[in-house]
Parts: sequence; C-alpha cells; structure tokens
Amino acid sequence: MLQQLWRHGARSRSELHGLTGISPNRVGVVASALMEGGVLRECEALPSSGGRPRVPLEIDPGRRHMIGLTVWPGAVGVARVNLQGHLLGKPLARFVSDSPGRLIAAAAALLGKTIGPQTMGVGVSVPGLYDSASRRVLSGMVVPGRGPVSLAPICDAAGDLPVVIENDMHALAARWQLTHRADTEHDVLLVNISDGALGAAVLIGGRPNRGCVSSANELGHMRYFADTERCYCGQTGCLERIFSSAYLERIEGAGGSAEKTGGGAGDQSGGGGLSLMERSSAYQSGDQPLETLYGYLANGIANVVNFIRPHRLVLVSELTRYPDACDLLVRSIRSRLLGELADRVRLDLWDQPVAHQAETAGWLALAGLYCDGWYGG
Ligand SMILES: [Zn+2]
Repeated sequence: MLQQLWRHGARSRSELHGLTGISPNRVGVVASALMEGGVLRECEALPSSGGRPRVPLEIDPGRRHMIGLTVWPGAVGVARVNLQGHLLGKPLARFVSDSPGRLIAAAAALLGKTIGPQTMGVGVSVPGLYDSASRRVLSGMVVPGRGPVSLAPICDAAGDLPVVIENDMHALAARWQLTHRADTEHDVLLVNISDGALGAAVLIGGRPNRGCVSSANELGHMRYFADTERCYCGQTGCLERIFSSAYLERIEGAGGSAEKTGGGAGDQSGGGGLSLMERSSAYQSGDQPLETLYGYLANGIANVVNFIRPHRLVLVSELTRYPDACDLLVRSIRSRLLGELADRVRLDLWDQPVAHQAETAGWLALAGLYCDGWYGG
C-alpha cells in the first residue's frame, strides 16, 4: 500500500484495494494502523455521486521521519527527512580526523543524539566495500590501508530501529528512483561522473545489485591501456584516472599542445591549466584532447550498458549543465551501443551531485519503506 501511495499519490481505500489486490477489509485495518502510527493521514473527502464520500489517504509528512547518516573520510553527517523525502531542520556534521574507529564512534554518538520517538528508520551510506554479514567496512576511503572497521557501534546506537547500510552510490540510486517515481520493475544503471571520480550503481527490480559484497559498481576501475597516474586501487589505466584534469594535462603535454588549442579553451594554449569541468563548460567541437577523454568515458559506459541491458541509464553529473559537452557524451555513448539497445535504453540526465550527503542517506531508509528488499542488506 505504501509503495502504491508513494508512486501514485493520494488514493482511497477502494483504489488501494484495486491497486494491490489486498482485500477491502484488510486495507481498512492496515490503513487504520498506519494512520495511528503517524505514517498515513486522510485527505479531505472527494465529492461523490451518492453513497459514501471517498476519502483519499496519503503519506503523512508531519509526524514521522527517517534519519540519514553518512560516513566519509574525516567527517560524519546526519540529517532527518520526513516520509515524503523533505529535509527537516539543518543537517549536522562532525569532523574527526584521526582513526576510522573514532570516526565510527562519532557517527554512533551523533545518531544516538538524533534518534527520537518519531524516528522510523535509519539509512547509513559509506564509500567502499561493506560486508553486511560482519557489519564491517572492508576497504575504501574511510579505511585507507588500515584493514576493516566495524559499523556495529552505529547499529547498536540505532537500537530496535530498522537500518539500511549501503554504499553511497546506492543511496544516490535510491534517491533517484524514489524522486522520479520510477518503475521498480525496470533495471537502472546510474553513473555519477566527476573529475577523477566515477561511481555507478545498478538497481535490478528496484534493489541494488548485491554481488558478493556490498559496494558501488566499480566502473571507475575499468582499466584501459592508458598511461595514467597510479590509481588508489594500485593500478594504472583506470577510467577514473583517465577522466580527470591530470590526464587531460598529461595528453596535452604529450600531444603537442601548440596546435591543439581547439577553440574550446579560448586563447589559452593547451587549455591553459583549466580543469576538466571548466574545459567541458566551454567545449566546442574540435577540442581533441577533451574529445579523447569523453571517448574513453563513453566507451566504458557503453560497454556496461551493452553488458547489462538496463531499461534506463541515468547520468548524474555537473556535466549535465553544459549542453555541448553533455551532447558530446550522450552521442558518444549512443554511437557505441548495440543497435537494438540504442532504441530501447532510456537515457536520463540528473544534476544532483549529492552522493555522500546525509540527506541522500536518508533516502536509503525511505527505500526500505517504499521498495522491497532494501532492509537486511
Ligand atoms: Zn583504480
């Protein structure tokens, strides 16, 4: 019933019966319990043509909330969102620069202080690999070269509340899926693109692709035979090292920058030290070094699309603000897709670079409420 109310907005009890197949009696009982619990409320009755007036039910934004907690290198953040996804009050942050253990302790303390009687659930986002069986972050920026760190203190602080712990890319994907009222039957590939950092998430049937360990889908470490700086994963040629200002500078140095000013970078030769995003904002056709980087990126994304065959590809990036660069990327991806897929995969752009915000972590808890299969990950 909650899934239907989220997707379609206010609905009467009889409509909920029609949408869910749950018996009218049972719909009434469940609706009463959810209203008593502060999850649903009744809207004004609709005019009826005889018989009982229809009273739609809707998700109550005023009484209950979810908490989002984000753990990031050197900082933890917490925010509350109501059951319609709106931020309540100001997010709080604590900066903890020493050990990962202290960082987790600070996160647990912050969560403990934020939980109240109206809290319904907790979403926790972490970068890197997370093992749900042992509740430990195995690797990633939070534990650089230090071995696993346990999130048990956070789970303990949550007490009896349901907790969803996921990679920050999954939090972003949950937020996209819910805010777009997307069909959860559809498989979604979401790619977050920034300078020197790529993240991806795959939702299968509205749930994160679980794999053998909970993580983002590591598109950024897809490797090419390219002479990049060494990646923090220990390798060279990683796609996120290629799609970076550093690599742009490197290929311009190697490729004779004098004749390659290209127009996109104005009068400054070879890009004049502009960052990848600055160059992208001023992109004009013929900027060869930039087009090379976009070619690599498009190739990586298109290979993944061909492999997964998602219904939807969502590109999340500041790049979506730069029409010419964005058009270059979209055309480059489409030209590399299998013909049959190019017509079927729907491509969405989303300018929402908020992967590791506490507010986004709150959407993990909302996904637990409005979609199947998020709790217990
Ligand atoms: Zn790498």
